[in-house]
Amino acid sequence: MRLDPADVALCVADDGPPTASGARPVATPIVQTSLFAHPDLDSLADALAAEHASHVYTRGQNPTVEALERKLALLEGGEACKAFASGMAAVSAVLMGLLEAGDHVLFVNHTYGPTLQLAEHLGRFGITHSTVLDVGPEAVAAALRPDTKLIWLESPGTMLFRLVDVAAVAVLARKRGVLTCMDNSWATPLLQKPLALGVDLVVHSATKYLGGHSDVVAGAVVTSAERLRRIFYRAYLLNGGALAPFDAFLVLRGLRTLPVRLRQHEADALEVARYLETHDAVAAVHHPALREPELAARQMAGTSGLFSFELADAAYARVRRFIDALAHFRIGVSWGGVESLVITPSREDNAAALAARGIPPGLVRLSVGLEGAELLIADLDQALSF
Ligand SMILES: *Cc1c(COP(=O)(O)O)cnc(C)c1O
Repeated sequence: MRLDPADVALCVADDGPPTASGARPVATPIVQTSLFAHPDLDSLADALAAEHASHVYTRGQNPTVEALERKLALLEGGEACKAFASGMAAVSAVLMGLLEAGDHVLFVNHTYGPTLQLAEHLGRFGITHSTVLDVGPEAVAAALRPDTKLIWLESPGTMLFRLVDVAAVAVLARKRGVLTCMDNSWATPLLQKPLALGVDLVVHSATKYLGGHSDVVAGAVVTSAERLRRIFYRAYLLNGGALAPFDAFLVLRGLRTLPVRLRQHEADALEVARYLETHDAVAAVHHPALREPELAARQMAGTSGLFSFELADAAYARVRRFIDALAHFRIGVSWGGVESLVITPSREDNAAALAARGIPPGLVRLSVGLEGAELLIADLDQALSF
């Protein structure tokens, strides 16, 4: 993992305004207030006229949330950031803030399920979408339509963790005047900087690695100041997915250990993935550093702890028996926390639906936490022979 020392310092450093004696707290204070009272009516009127840049009401701006936004904007190399009450609030705000009836969204690669469900709903408002799973730039170019306004990228993609050549897609999108947005939750800004690769917007589920301890739900959007203002007034303020000050504090605290957590997640996930590659009961391992090392090295500074593999015996009963036999991997949704997690998209009766989405049966997703690779490999070993 090649982390930028300036990024590491930015994650770790934190402080608040000086006290009366001139000393400074080393953590951001939680400004737990719903509204801000003004010294006179003109002051309030001025604040209301520019609510994206002033303190009126915590559904708009709040100092604790702004401390987080400044850090995320710097880490992503973007002009401006807005933090949201969840990753999905951030996704919704981008789609609802930037699209009009008659616009089309092209989803490239396997996309987070609820994002696609939201796109389905937006059909009711005249916004259409399609998906292209062949992530080669030619296939992406061919899937563009005259009404395509936005290309939505996930790299690595959900479930199979395939990579998109981000710079190549950004170039063809710019040529066609199409916006690009990357869901960068998997890599975090420490491992991948989509804006530097030519992408226009970045969204995050900060619930995952940024928070990192499975104790907060949060999201973020980073883009140009102008585009963010549009999203602020057309979606953030009105949709109401505002991040609470305490939750912003939890994400700020999570960020302080993000570099050291990511180093350990990468090392342990690679060790677990390499072990699985050698096991007879495993048909394939889907880890970007093992499957697409060149592209991974070109556009990412390392890899995180989430990947998947396929059981050779893909019968649902086998998948269930394997998962239920695990002792240290907890069974649950989400990922990116300190505890290791396991999940499968397979159900007793959904093989055809998975096949239609290009998801192989017998797929198991692991979020490798911080318990240590040795313990996790021993756990997988006993469950694979169970
Ligand atoms: C979890 C997740 C989201 C949604 O984030 P929430 O914080 O759960 O709303 C979006 N994209 C990806 C890739 C995710 O894993």
